[in-house]
Amino acid sequence: EPMLDDAFATLLSWADEVRDIGVRANCDTPSEAQTAARFGAEGIGLCRTEHMFFEPDRLAVMREMIFAEDPQDRARALARLLPVQRADFTELFAIMAGRPVCIRLLDPPLHEFLPSDADGIAAMAAALHIAPDAARRRAAALAEANPMLGMRGVRLGIAIPEIYDMQARAIFEAAAAQGDVVPEVMIPLVSARREVDLVAARIAAVARSVRDEMGVPLEYRLGVMVETPRAALRADEIAEAASFLSFGTNDLTQMTYGLSRDDAGRFLSSYVAQGVFADDPFLRLDMDGVGELLRIGAERGRRARPDVTLSICGEHGGDPDSIDFSRAAGFDYVSCSPFRVPVARLAAAHLAIRDRGGSLTAPPER
Ligand code: PEP
Ligand code: MG
Repeated sequence: EPMLDDAFATLLSWADEVRDIGVRANCDTPSEAQTAARFGAEGIGLCRTEHMFFEPDRLAVMREMIFAEDPQDRARALARLLPVQRADFTELFAIMAGRPVCIRLLDPPLHEFLPSDADGIAAMAAALHIAPDAARRRAAALAEANPMLGMRGVRLGIAIPEIYDMQARAIFEAAAAQGDVVPEVMIPLVSARREVDLVAARIAAVARSVRDEMGVPLEYRLGVMVETPRAALRADEIAEAASFLSFGTNDLTQMTYGLSRDDAGRFLSSYVAQGVFADDPFLRLDMDGVGELLRIGAERGRRARPDVTLSICGEHGGDPDSIDFSRAAGFDYVSCSPFRVPVARLAAAHLAIRDRGGSLTAPPER
């Protein structure tokens, strides 16, 4: 298991004393969370929950639930998923031992959760006790031409609200049992304030039920992922409904360029070779275009809600250039892969010292 060398750990503790921006980690699994904790992450900045459902047994239940049209079939399927989700979160909270854990509600490209072939569709017909013809019609109705721009993120959460109800319940039950954690619940792929209000109201209702049932106080924070250009532009009204905004630069880059994250590799190298793009914008933050949206979003969010927590959680969140940018734009923390946490801690300290004119003791000039 990955450990830090003692001397390096000491150096990093000095780095933590001078740096002025937080470093969290993106962790979906207990083993990633363990690495993040050992590498000194201050918490989990992004826990993607879709991966929790790819294991075959869970995927089958998830498929059944999304495929079902009858709300009772959905409720039955979700009831089977609640205890496993609760166990997922219980484990993460225990590993992070009181540090903040930000859990993102489900954000799947729908096609990854749907049966794609005749056998899969027949299996759904059998599981839901519906005619094969009806199952084929349902599969056709759910198929999308552009799943990455389709019923993803909060759109799925609003179309099938029982999914987020189940996840919120699992988060709150795990947190209430643990006692020392204030869970952060994050809504993905938002583009309108009204989406946040709809989800927030249901989540508040779940929190009330869990408090009543368990008879314990339960606090939580609700936040929004800013990863569509519209969300960045409307960050002021969105921040009024969210206590934190986490900027997802992967999708924000995809949508700002109109360039598919999954297909960009086919021509990016020729674009970079010919100087159209200075770099692969998915690997290095594009300071001009995507960066402008980040600055606008951060500024509007702060203006509407001065105490809103701002963070960046895309693939290059731990990159020294991204950290430099994030400090200048007033972000509170970056969240990156657990393995990049030590370098991010060092880079953040290096930048703070640079801004003090190289001195470790002079007051910062930020
Ligand atoms: C993002 O879009 O930047 C993000 C962090 O979410 P995901 O990569 O899961 O879409
Ligand atoms: Mg995203």
